[in-house]
Amino acid sequence: MDEETIVYALPNRTTPGNPVLFDEAICDGCNRCLTVCLEDVFIPNPQKGKPPLILHPDECWYCGPCVDDCPLPGAIRLNHPLQQRVRWKRKDSGGHFRV
Ligand code: SF4
Ligand code: SF4
Repeated sequence: MDEETIVYALPNRTTPGNPVLFDEAICDGCNRCLTVCLEDVFIPNPQKGKPPLILHPDECWYCGPCVDDCPLPGAIRLNHPLQQRVRWKRKDSGGHFRV
């Protein structure tokens, strides 16, 4: 009898990061952001009128259509990881700033 090779396929562990932040006071749960996200980061919230749920945070590319296509300004915003928040330094004053 041949030896069997058992292969286990496990998903990556999800990090606790949130690629986007919702403002529940503004979002009406229209799911437009969910529809335009090419990475399927979100799933619909089972509670009608609530923001989508973030199911795959590590799949986010920070490409932005979810924010750009949201009809309610302020309902969703990108939440870049710290290492992506580059600080720039002015040559003349030495002051730091972000774009
Ligand atoms: S964040 Fe904007 S696009 Fe997404 S469900 Fe809320 S209102 Fe709709
Ligand atoms: S930034 Fe891009 S990949 Fe990330 S949730 Fe929005 S649309 Fe999806």
